[in-house]
Amino acid sequence: MTGELVNYNSLGVSSMADELRVVTSEDQLREIVVRTTSTNVPLTVLGGGTNVVLRKHLRGLVVVLGLKGIRSLPEGVEVVRLTAAAGENWHHLVRYSLGRGWYGLENLALIPGTVGAAPIQNIGAYGVELAERFVSLRAMDRRDGSIREFDRASCQFAYRDSLFKPKEHSPENSADVDRYIILDVTLLLSRQPRPILGYPEVKRELMNLGVTQPTPTQVAEAVIRIRRRKLPDPANCGNVGSFFKNPLVDEMFARNLLSRESELRTYPAERRMVKLSAAQLIDLCGFKGERRGRVGVWRRQPLVFVNLGLATGEDFLSLAEEVQQKVFARYEVTLQIEPRVLGEP
Ligand SMILES: Cc1cc2nc3c(=O)[nH]c(=O)nc-3n(C[C@H](O)[C@H](O)[C@H](O)COP(=O)(O)OP(=O)(O)OC[C@H]3O[C@@H](n4cnc5c(N)ncnc54)[C@H](O)[C@@H]3O)c2cc1C
Repeated sequence: MTGELVNYNSLGVSSMADELRVVTSEDQLREIVVRTTSTNVPLTVLGGGTNVVLRKHLRGLVVVLGLKGIRSLPEGVEVVRLTAAAGENWHHLVRYSLGRGWYGLENLALIPGTVGAAPIQNIGAYGVELAERFVSLRAMDRRDGSIREFDRASCQFAYRDSLFKPKEHSPENSADVDRYIILDVTLLLSRQPRPILGYPEVKRELMNLGVTQPTPTQVAEAVIRIRRRKLPDPANCGNVGSFFKNPLVDEMFARNLLSRESELRTYPAERRMVKLSAAQLIDLCGFKGERRGRVGVWRRQPLVFVNLGLATGEDFLSLAEEVQQKVFARYEVTLQIEPRVLGEP
């Protein structure tokens, strides 16, 4: 049975899969994995569809992961191990843990999508990345349906990246990309509140709320307020959050760039790299609030592209190309698309 995917992606674009299944058990998933592998049918996994750009047609079978369940294991008085199934909603997990006095996820409040997709690009926001709370994950190997466990080191987490995300310098179909379907994720949370307030925006929001010694729940509230103000709600206005990653450049390149373009903001990153603000580069190229037919650049955050009504994946990709070309022509910086582009035109 063919499947329309318009309700399964937050850009709200129409896309047709040859077959669509919602899977609620590991046994069902294994049966599908074994069948599609033995018959060479392409298999695409979707969680909440909040980090994908779908082209018109997805060949083969699209599986939406609906695996549910959260369990916890106390580890001494200080910490708790929390395991959540891939199909659980991420923000629900953040609220669930805060409600029980288990802290560490508050800065990651209101990130849309599922728990299973969180390790794919090592979700991060307001000074915290998933990797910092991560213990392990269980995944199904598509080659034979076997289950494998990955610890933090083997996931190779980096900024918006992991072993599971295709790399721009290696072909999409390289050996390990898409090989594993994440089944559940285990995190280590603390019973001791240790609010992370390094991000000036969060501090400012808390000050505006009159809070000087915030609890983790108040940090989450501040993050939620900032996000609601800054980002369009995908339920009302199709988007995938940031359309591009913040570019990482080496220190020498950054120094040269700053000598020409002194207004650019830079942030120190790992391995002597420097992070630039993709939003600022796009803004300075004059794209804020721009519209191109059925898609546009969000006026309050130029890193976000929005569906103005009946847009297609191709509309988004052609706006992305225009932005990439202009940013490169002015700054010689290549913007990389953050969401995964799936399917064919
Ligand atoms: C308004 C908005 C704000 C956002 N803000 C942030 C932010 O602050 N920080 C951030 O990091 N991200 C952000 N995002 C991006 C997005 O929320 C995250 O990347 C999220 O983890 C995607 O989850 P998902 O379930 O929707 O994944 P999907 O979009 O369904 O899938 C993304 C990719 O992961 C693969 N995948 C999904 N589930 C699995 C699985 N179980 N096993 C194997 N592969 C899988 C898919 O095949 C696809 O390639 C934002 C998105 C929106 C719409």
